[in-house]
Amino acid sequence: MEHPASEPPQNTFTCQLCDLSSPFTYYGQKPPNTRAIVLLEECFLTKDPFSPDKEKFLVLGSECSLCRKRVCVGSDCSLFYTKRFCLQCVDQNLEQFPRQIQAELAKKKQSSRAAVS
Ligand SMILES: [Zn+2]
Ligand SMILES: [Zn+2]
Repeated sequence: MEHPASEPPQNTFTCQLCDLSSPFTYYGQKPPNTRAIVLLEECFLTKDPFSPDKEKFLVLGSECSLCRKRVCVGSDCSLFYTKRFCLQCVDQNLEQFPRQIQAELAKKKQSSRAAVS
């Protein structure tokens, strides 16, 4: 049994939009102990507590590429379009996004209370 020289402190990821908070085990693009996972962005990851598979990671969230807020990957908080954007920045820069995304967001706003999963 080996212990790393400096144990990283327990880190907590908190979404700055919805206040979701959860400890994360890794921040970056390539989770340790995984064979083939390379993520499209640097994310906050935690081991999947519901999976016995050691390579299973859950993406908790990421940093908005514009305002650097930490946002969860929930569709109410952020959007991934080549980069991660929080929905506040998406709102402020809506015309920069393709029509398809604008339409999706408009649709979501209308039916934000409908529980479809
Ligand atoms: Zn959130
Ligand atoms: Zn932002």
